[in-house]
Amino acid sequence: MNLTDPLVEVDPDVQSAIAAERDRQESTLDMIASENHVSEAVMDAQGTVMTNKYAEGYPGERYYGGCRYMDEVEQLAIDRAKELFGADHVNVQPHAGTQANMGVYFTVLEPGDKILSLELSHGGHLSHGHRANFSGKLYDVEQYEVDPETGYIDYEEVAAHAGEFAPDIIVSGSSAYPREFEYDTIQEIADEVGAYHLADIAHVTGLVAAGVHANPVDHDVPFVTGSTHKTIRAGRGGMILCDEEYADGVDSSVFPGSQGGPLMHNVAGKAVGFAEALTPEFEEYARQVVDNAKRLADVFRQHGLSLVSGGTDKHLMLVDLRESHPDLTGKEAESALEDVGVIVNKNTVPGETRSPMVTSGIRVGTPPLTTRGFGEDEIETVGDLMVEVLNDPDDAEVTDRVSAEIDRLCEEFPIYG
Ligand SMILES: *Cc1c(COP(=O)(O)O)cnc(C)c1O
Repeated sequence: MNLTDPLVEVDPDVQSAIAAERDRQESTLDMIASENHVSEAVMDAQGTVMTNKYAEGYPGERYYGGCRYMDEVEQLAIDRAKELFGADHVNVQPHAGTQANMGVYFTVLEPGDKILSLELSHGGHLSHGHRANFSGKLYDVEQYEVDPETGYIDYEEVAAHAGEFAPDIIVSGSSAYPREFEYDTIQEIADEVGAYHLADIAHVTGLVAAGVHANPVDHDVPFVTGSTHKTIRAGRGGMILCDEEYADGVDSSVFPGSQGGPLMHNVAGKAVGFAEALTPEFEEYARQVVDNAKRLADVFRQHGLSLVSGGTDKHLMLVDLRESHPDLTGKEAESALEDVGVIVNKNTVPGETRSPMVTSGIRVGTPPLTTRGFGEDEIETVGDLMVEVLNDPDDAEVTDRVSAEIDRLCEEFPIYG
């Protein structure tokens, strides 16, 4: 084996799986709200010699020699993120969003301290204190919920809950809540009860960067975490934004507190994705993501589907199938849609009675389709086709016809060509 032999010769098995995955992405419609398609430029940065280098520490203060270009790239990522979000301090080393949250918890909490966060089946995230996650094992967690009638977070209830529980930190942000968070209201509640506030913008990082979603930094939220691979299209990873006074604490909680060397090839990807996010085209993209989601929600509603909270303010919606399709589980809906080439995920809904592996809902998002060029007309077509399948998942005439339509759309809107 030579270092310069191509992948197809060194490992045809992995090469063929990658090629097949590329085909799968081209030939299906990805409507998973947490996914996206990054640019070739981001992938060009990721698949490089940056993966060879140890760069424990931070720009200008590393534990290894030869870090000059590591410093250059990490500083570019930091400076661009500061510009995008207006934050005092940025750490771009968290390997993922979960590690970003860990970095914040390790900065201000001791084991046994109290977290108040959104319940998982109401849209929260495992890293917000689920018992199967480190956050639930290390900390004392209580959770707020959405109002069962409206599907919206009831901020008065959150305030009362915070008053009783006296949390050390309140976590805002979600994976499946279709509405904007009132970061300012949560910040007021946190101030009243003397708690820190972490706004986890994992899903909406790109929308916040583009100014089409509220920015918690503007509401004096001291800690903000995000994923870099969701709406912002900067490749897999996480990041932390914080006030200057917590900068040293956050940096040492990430390294050496909870991680070793940074994944510098991914930091390079983040730098490139952030540069793309600073362009006017990206702002247009983010706006279209939200317009597409709102249109899709209209289409679903017109067909009689029930949406948690009745619609969306952002890039995703949560379809509650219990009323319109009482016999169709989230798992069955996911699989029927996958059979025709539409990829969504089953999702628990508020008041869920089925298991998380079955569920009564599906979560549907527009970021990847918008990346491949879909506007509202195409989204409307996709919404109509999805409903046809949900109404008649076992009718081969329907599924064959829909499948052919999806193929046609995929060919008309190639991702990488
Ligand atoms: C996706 C997500 C994360 C991060 O997930 P990773 O898979 O660890 O990157 C964190 N918080 C929320 C709310 C999320 O939706």
